[in-house]
Amino acid sequence: MDSEHAVIIGASHAAAQLGASLRQGGWQGNISIVGDEAIPPYQRPPLSKAYLAGEKHSDELLIRPATFYEKSAIDLVLGTRVTAIDRQAKTVTLHDGGSIPYTRLALTTGARVRKLSLPGHDLDGVFYLRDLQDVDRIRAYVGRGKSAVIIGGGYIGLETAASMRKLGMQVTVLEAMPRILQRVTAPEVSAFYSRIHGEEGVNIVTDASVESLEGSGKVAAVRLADGTRLDADLVVIGVGVMPATELAEAAGLEVDNGIAVDEFARTSDPDIVAAGDCTSHYNPIYDRRLRLESVQNATDQAKTAANTLCGKLEAYHALPWFWSDQFDLKLQIAGLSQGFDRVVLRGASDTGRSFAAFYFGGDRLLAVDAVNRPKEFMMVRRALTTGMRADPDKLADDSSDIQQAFS
Ligand code: NAP
Repeated sequence: MDSEHAVIIGASHAAAQLGASLRQGGWQGNISIVGDEAIPPYQRPPLSKAYLAGEKHSDELLIRPATFYEKSAIDLVLGTRVTAIDRQAKTVTLHDGGSIPYTRLALTTGARVRKLSLPGHDLDGVFYLRDLQDVDRIRAYVGRGKSAVIIGGGYIGLETAASMRKLGMQVTVLEAMPRILQRVTAPEVSAFYSRIHGEEGVNIVTDASVESLEGSGKVAAVRLADGTRLDADLVVIGVGVMPATELAEAAGLEVDNGIAVDEFARTSDPDIVAAGDCTSHYNPIYDRRLRLESVQNATDQAKTAANTLCGKLEAYHALPWFWSDQFDLKLQIAGLSQGFDRVVLRGASDTGRSFAAFYFGGDRLLAVDAVNRPKEFMMVRRALTTGMRADPDKLADDSSDIQQAFS
């Protein structure tokens, strides 16, 4: 080992990948990952699904077993929060007053939940769902026949609703907008998910304005502005996240809707890289700056950041993709639909449980939402990555081979 020391702040998806990729890329120096949770980096996607439903143990969530870090000489500094970065002295300060010197720094601080300051927000039984401990606490309140009210009809809210129905609970989802998933999907896809959730027994209320959470000590009900009162043994709030940029901002790094990084994951300080939910970067496929909240981005950008630290500059220009599992539905999303002016459906969205929605901006294919349609997802991923063109009429013809729609 030489005297180089890469310190990674935030024991996240991105951190696990960055540490591993540094070693793969030949980094000879020390590596430390500092995280405030007591557990090595773990997968978040199962938290609202298999882990909440009690189908997985926390050990099964680990991205890599604890022994991997030992074998790779990656020092896990867990249960510790970094409170400041001193870019002149090249040290990070820990909450207990200690400090760690670095030669290169990586910020993988992720995102934090958006909080609602409703009357009653601090009652027992009111939760956010972001980390393992949140779900451990929620699990003490779930149970067959109990009532859950979920505030927010985004991915967290809908996945949590599906998991809680599986557990035999009465579930209501409150969405502030006229339709669920409004920010990320077309009206047809929102209508599809509303229908399925209804069929599965979830009560979805749109245009919902939550006025207060009621109860004495423990939450008992949610009151809406129109006077509706919904019984609640527990409330889960999933109304979005914000990038965790405080450390970067305090250290004087450039922040632009996330820690601003270039195509090599470098921040405005050449000795500091950043990756994952906490960053924003320029994406050449969509010709704009993006802040992505996804495992794909955390993983791929972390590889780029590790390459950069190893002296190998390879630009990050991966196609964004996402997924969401609800009931028996596997939604796979390739690309970004924002700015679309036309949606082409393949298969029916108003009946059954399998279709694909292709998003176009003019004659350019932007993205697909594929529900139980892995072939359509894979094809669009390939097409958007390689610059193929798509024929909307052929896409809409469900009897034709999907490959025929691309040239
Ligand atoms: P989200 O996707 O931003 O959805 C939040 C939803 O809550 C939006 O529909 C939002 O409407 C609504 N909302 C906001 N304020 C509200 C209020 N006061 N009352 C009722 N509804 C309100 O965020 P999320 O579901 O909390 O998820 C958090 C993060 O985890 C996101 O990055 C998400 O992508 C990620 N995640 C991803 C997956 C997946 O990909 N499968 C699964 C779970 C979580 P507006 O659009 O009007 O704000």
